[in-house]
Amino acid sequence: MDKRDYYEVLGIGKGAGADEIKQAYRKLALKHHPDRVPAEEKKNAEEKFKEISEAYAVLSDEQKRSQYNQYGHAGIDQRYSYEDIFRGANFSDFSDIFRNMGFGGGGFGFSGADIFDTFFGGGRRSRQPRRGEDIEFHVSITLDDAAKGVEKEIEVPRTERCETCGGSGAKQGTRKSPCPKCHGSGQIQYVRRAGFMQFSQVITCDRCNGRGQIIETPCGECRGSGYVQRRRKINVKIPQGVDNGSVLRMREEGEHGEGGPGDLFVVIRVKEHPTILREGNDLYVDAPLSFAQAAMGGKVEVETIDGFESVKVPSGTQSHTRTRVHGKGMPILGRHGRGDLIVKFVVKTPEKLTRRQKELLEEFEKEPKS
Ligand SMILES: [Zn+2]
Ligand SMILES: [Zn+2]
Repeated sequence: MDKRDYYEVLGIGKGAGADEIKQAYRKLALKHHPDRVPAEEKKNAEEKFKEISEAYAVLSDEQKRSQYNQYGHAGIDQRYSYEDIFRGANFSDFSDIFRNMGFGGGGFGFSGADIFDTFFGGGRRSRQPRRGEDIEFHVSITLDDAAKGVEKEIEVPRTERCETCGGSGAKQGTRKSPCPKCHGSGQIQYVRRAGFMQFSQVITCDRCNGRGQIIETPCGECRGSGYVQRRRKINVKIPQGVDNGSVLRMREEGEHGEGGPGDLFVVIRVKEHPTILREGNDLYVDAPLSFAQAAMGGKVEVETIDGFESVKVPSGTQSHTRTRVHGKGMPILGRHGRGDLIVKFVVKTPEKLTRRQKELLEEFEKEPKS
């Protein structure tokens, strides 16, 4: 079965704005509303409703919409499950429409997840324990640290499983009892009639929050939640060659959750060095030269990231010319080898001269120019 173009389904142009998309969906949702179609058309109404709702779910989400614009249905189908399309969408502006369909009150929201469950049978919805959130943490280091690599201890505020009760939330020595509302399943099934459709919807039990058990005496440390806030010290090994904006991912060092911990993302900021400029893997330094050094050539010591580097000055060097020293730049992240050191010669003209210096320069000036 060929899928119709989402824009066509909603009867809008490719350039339609968010409001236009919303209005088109509202209009069609009302048109195909079970209360409004004649008996013989009711059969098709559900399919129609699904189709427009799917189109709306995709086009109202910026990311999914651009994916669809670029790659068509393939771009959506390969990337998202049918469930993902609906779960990510926001149907809250249409609560009036869905309320009319029998979804009013009772703590029902009108999220994409609800719509999905409604259309495709909530009974199949499995309640997966959620992983903890990822954490982003910023660390500033010096250019020297970035060149050599460094180990830093950071203190990350995060949610952790309570050690006192092992995350159960129950006070030590006390037990949990099965939830009387859901009888231990953690889920409650509602069957609702909405127009011609009968929906069965499974929602998480609000008494036990889906755990299926009730804590009689809560743990004093976490007050029964099973989780506590902590500032956790973590050692971060920052490798050689990191740059501003480099991100280190530390698996399972994020917030703890029922489905396991999330990850910690350490974002590196490399502070500016007072004399050395970095661009990619190359380093830039200035080498001041006296007028005589520049004219006669020789060697000059420049300060770089690992001490001093002796650089050859060709005779007759002009100010602001550059020389490149291969392999003396920044170490390359995750690889062997280094970038280059680029030295800019800057000829300093003396500002004060002794009598003797003046005599010598006058002498110099009298010489015929070569
Ligand atoms: Zn506890
Ligand atoms: Zn329960």
